[in-house]
Amino acid sequence: MTLHPLIPLSLATLCLASCAFRPAIDDQGKVTVHPPNQIMRSHGIRQFEKIKQRKQISHDPRYTEPVQRVAQRLQKVIEMPGAEWEFVVFKDNSPNAFALPGGKVGINTGLFRLIDNDTLLAAVLGHEISHATANHAEQRMFRGIGLALVGILLWHGLDHDGADHPGSDVAAFLAAGYLIDSLPFSRKQEYESDRIGAVYMAQAGYDPRQAIELWRRLAEHHMRQGGQKPAFLRTHPHDHSRIRALIHFMPVAMKFYTPSGTGH
Ligand SMILES: [Zn+2]
Repeated sequence: MTLHPLIPLSLATLCLASCAFRPAIDDQGKVTVHPPNQIMRSHGIRQFEKIKQRKQISHDPRYTEPVQRVAQRLQKVIEMPGAEWEFVVFKDNSPNAFALPGGKVGINTGLFRLIDNDTLLAAVLGHEISHATANHAEQRMFRGIGLALVGILLWHGLDHDGADHPGSDVAAFLAAGYLIDSLPFSRKQEYESDRIGAVYMAQAGYDPRQAIELWRRLAEHHMRQGGQKPAFLRTHPHDHSRIRALIHFMPVAMKFYTPSGTGH
């Protein structure tokens, strides 16, 4: 039996995927920024430009003013070398936000149905920014490539031993490349971003306990939408699990909090 040439490559990539998870926050709340490499940064910036062309941008000051105000305060406490921070509001009814490597952050207008003050907005932006500063996209990329390689190996090993399909590996790999950008962050990354986001909020003078309120409101929203899928079907943590984890972490986050009097 010959060793498939992809085996060492997939093992190496999966190893990289696990090695790539470098904790970005410790138990004391000390945050370590992991700036993305040039390739990830350029990719993030390109993707953001494409999204800006594809989706409608909102210039409604009811949304853009609080976003710019909160973003400015958060940026003062976050140092990420090479970041080109940009915060854009998209006309989209789903209550979502996202961050891409290089400091590009998108916020949907639908979020403002659930949040009505700057502190809750700081909880959203703190969480999203931390995906960027912890370089979660790079870890996700290695995970995606590793999974694609394992998929190709399984395909070869199960049914198609000896079959020659020139180009099929390349096609599968390219398909995986497209999928990687749509992969959600892992539960581990979500919990990490919740903790980092709470510290960023506190350092910028926003009460981090409001992050718990944010997730309560999102949980209510998900319930209204028909509830969440069972835990084993989801990559995202269950709302109640992340609320419990945030409550547990809150004494640490509160150490960084000095009320500024302008949080609301
Ligand atoms: Zn997240």
